[in-house]
Amino acid sequence: MNRLKDQVAIVTGGSQGIGFAIAKKFAAEGASILIADIMEKGSLAAVKALREMGANADHFVIDITNVEEIYEMTKYCTDKFGKIDVLVNNAGIQKPCPSMNLSEDDFDRIMDVNIKGAFFCAQAVGRVMRKNGGGRIVSISSGNSRMMSVGRAPYCISKAGINAMTAILGAEWAMYNIRINAIAPGWIKTSMVERGLSLNAINEAQILSISPVERWGKEEEIADLAMYLVSDESTYIVGQTIFCDGGWSTGILPNALDYIRENDKM
Ligand code: NAP
Repeated sequence: MNRLKDQVAIVTGGSQGIGFAIAKKFAAEGASILIADIMEKGSLAAVKALREMGANADHFVIDITNVEEIYEMTKYCTDKFGKIDVLVNNAGIQKPCPSMNLSEDDFDRIMDVNIKGAFFCAQAVGRVMRKNGGGRIVSISSGNSRMMSVGRAPYCISKAGINAMTAILGAEWAMYNIRINAIAPGWIKTSMVERGLSLNAINEAQILSISPVERWGKEEEIADLAMYLVSDESTYIVGQTIFCDGGWSTGILPNALDYIRENDKM
């Protein structure tokens, strides 16, 4: 359990949900963690929990849409921990709205957090990694980069952009020994998804009806894949977006598995 011994990882949006699960996994593998999140209270609680696990952890309050704050976060991390080995570009937002009604402000905010923020975090941290001989970046995309959820146009567009960003930066920065990949999670019941459910923008029965494994994903399942992608077990994987979604992206129709159950004669 020491695959990240003496390494330093930044997790954006790491105070809760998928990001916090990744932070816990990396901490359990020996990494020092900087939680970089817009929420101060949640970040303090996350750091407390990581320290209780015995990890070296700190937080930095940041809005990743502000590039100056990204530079400050990068400096804070190198001043505090001496280096950066891993960046998890996890912070993301969504706001359901029919595309016909979407405002410019909402479109801009989602793009600024999900794409611009992720790009400039990668660039700022990538410059440090390059100087230090390399590193790994994992960005959290979404199943919505391929499987569309109506009413979430800017989210789907931004996550498809993350897949493209992963491919282009993966190709450009491999020569600096910076290995870049992305994870496209399926449906995980975090606060982001709970908000969508409470607004009736998404529906639990519909979600389960298109899931070959017929259940929600777990944050830990995404964290396990993130661990693999930053480990030495994946050194030939570059620029890829890996779908971790229980088979949702195979594209089965709602309730399609009923046919198999009803006609399976074995
Ligand atoms: P979450 O529980 O809402 O966690 C995201 C964290 O990022 C929150 O603490 C959020 O703070 C923070 N954040 C938002 N905007 C930020 C900003 N500008 N700067 C810094 N931090 C910011 O969401 P999650 O479900 O764990 O999602 C994590 C990532 O996985 C996201 O990129 C999401 O798109 C992706 N994803 C999630 C699912 C899923 O089913 N949950 C599926 C596919 C992909 P606030 O709470 O204040 O916004």
